[in-house]
Amino acid sequence: MTASSPKGISRPQVKSLDEILPAEPLLMMGAGPVPIPECVARANSVVINHLGSVMAQVINQVKSMARYVFQTESKWVLGVAGPASAAMEMAVSNLMEPGEPILCINNGFFSHRMAEMATRIGADVHELHVPVLEAADPERVRKAIETVRPKVLTLVQGETSNTVFNHALEDIAKIAKSYGCLVVVDAVCTLSTMPLKMDEWQVDVVITGGQKGLSSIPGVSLLVFSDESWKTVKNRKKPVVQWCFDAQLAENFWHNDGYHYTAPVSGIMALHEALKLVCDESLEQRFARHLRCSTALQAGIEGLGLNLFIPESSRLNSVVGIQLPEDLTAGQICRHISEVYRVEIAGSFGQPIVRIGQMGEQCREHNLFRTLHALGSTMRDLGVKVDQPNGMAEMEACLQRIPRTLSQVA
Ligand SMILES: *Cc1c(COP(=O)(O)O)cnc(C)c1O
Repeated sequence: MTASSPKGISRPQVKSLDEILPAEPLLMMGAGPVPIPECVARANSVVINHLGSVMAQVINQVKSMARYVFQTESKWVLGVAGPASAAMEMAVSNLMEPGEPILCINNGFFSHRMAEMATRIGADVHELHVPVLEAADPERVRKAIETVRPKVLTLVQGETSNTVFNHALEDIAKIAKSYGCLVVVDAVCTLSTMPLKMDEWQVDVVITGGQKGLSSIPGVSLLVFSDESWKTVKNRKKPVVQWCFDAQLAENFWHNDGYHYTAPVSGIMALHEALKLVCDESLEQRFARHLRCSTALQAGIEGLGLNLFIPESSRLNSVVGIQLPEDLTAGQICRHISEVYRVEIAGSFGQPIVRIGQMGEQCREHNLFRTLHALGSTMRDLGVKVDQPNGMAEMEACLQRIPRTLSQVA
């Protein structure tokens, strides 16, 4: 049947994208995706042969830049066409086989996801639940490991849903390794925003997405396996059930210039540019920029008279959680700030908070001023008493107190 047949499905009447998208773009200050730099956007429009020598050169550079960003000498960098969750699934499904024990540290919505994935594989899944406002405690983790004796331990560096920072990650990883356990870390919102030293901290798999700390596009993600975890992948008894997520098939493309599936060429180009920007800036300067901006934003929010959700000792800087003032919902606040002030912030998964991201391009002074002003005005419009001038002044004072770049250290 041809399209013009009277009995065919009629052509839909649709609007152009220009008609759908807002005339003035919204400032993306939520929990991801985050704004992307111009060169990343440009690279994302490039399509070339996904198997030629040019692509091989791009892939090689992506891998070597990733090793710097993940702080590892491991060869086993892999990419995946998919969200960060696809990289999580790749880690869990390549390391686990049915019946094998896994311990998942559950700080909330995202860190629970790897337990869900392991359950679907048929693994013997144990979760260590951490109270909402707290970071995971190494000694509690040690006790759980002694009970479960897991093959794999999973944890998140920054739990985006409630804005908790697992600051004891290094200690926890080293404890797990002393019990012969492989350590899988979700660094989706934190990678390149704060220190994570994969080799030095003895982490076996690190996972990240494109659309958060790296300020690339959503839909192409990265993960790295240590030599030890790669051996586990290679020695599986049964192949991974999901063909697309089979790391040994992905090795064809990422290490042998061969075919697995058609690579997300443009997304990889975008990721290349995003990684290049991290390398040009240097990790040290990038961490300092994130710390300075997030600290200032937090000072500004408190200066308005609003409360931060997590106590300072376990507070995440990459995504800032703000307690809802009484009588307001996250939906009301997010809608108003978006419609009136053209700034997007995020609600939450289960907690009484709204969240403002401090990842990649979000950490720029002009974005901070616009966002804090929009937040203060939104609260005022919705009937909450805030001290707008004091909030702006506190943020500015904080920015002036902390140097913009690290001074040369001898
Ligand atoms: C965003 C996020 C994820 C999920 O990323 P997707 O790209 O949506 O799959 C997982 N873990 C953490 C910590 C995140 O912040």
